[in-house]
Amino acid sequence: MSDCIFCKIASGEIPSNTVYENESLRVILDISPANPGHCLVLPKSHAENIFEIDENLLKEAFAVAKKIASALKLSGLADGVNILQNNGGVAGQTVNHFHIHVIPRKEGDNVTLKHEGVKLSSEEMTRVGEAVREALN
Ligand code: 5GP
Ligand code: ZN
Repeated sequence: MSDCIFCKIASGEIPSNTVYENESLRVILDISPANPGHCLVLPKSHAENIFEIDENLLKEAFAVAKKIASALKLSGLADGVNILQNNGGVAGQTVNHFHIHVIPRKEGDNVTLKHEGVKLSSEEMTRVGEAVREALN
């Protein structure tokens, strides 16, 4: 997509701090990292989000996220990682080109990804389960 910043970065048109690249994906350092080594896995072809991306490319992107997670651990930049993947503005997506965050974590860092649990009655839980199962049929 011509006006998409991540298309331009993934294709190499805009230079980036690239840590890994193959035919279909580029992995770059996030410009505003949660911790040092925060990486973004970018497919080279444009898909806005998880709803649109080709399933094989999605599998490949997650396989590369695993490779990056292992490298972050091996490098000493991470003792654990969070994999984060936002879809839609309501979910915090700010760049509308599918990407996977690989966020290195260290004991005592200041990264917060926690949520408050919402309280649901058992009836509500049953209804929610039914709604999802029905949508999957
Ligand atoms: P989102 O909120 O869409 O899941 O994440 C977008 C991420 O892309 C943010 O963490 C932001 O810091 C990063 N980002 C936005 N623009 C650029 C850029 O031009 N270069 C790099 N390396 N990262 C970017
Ligand atoms: Zn794009």
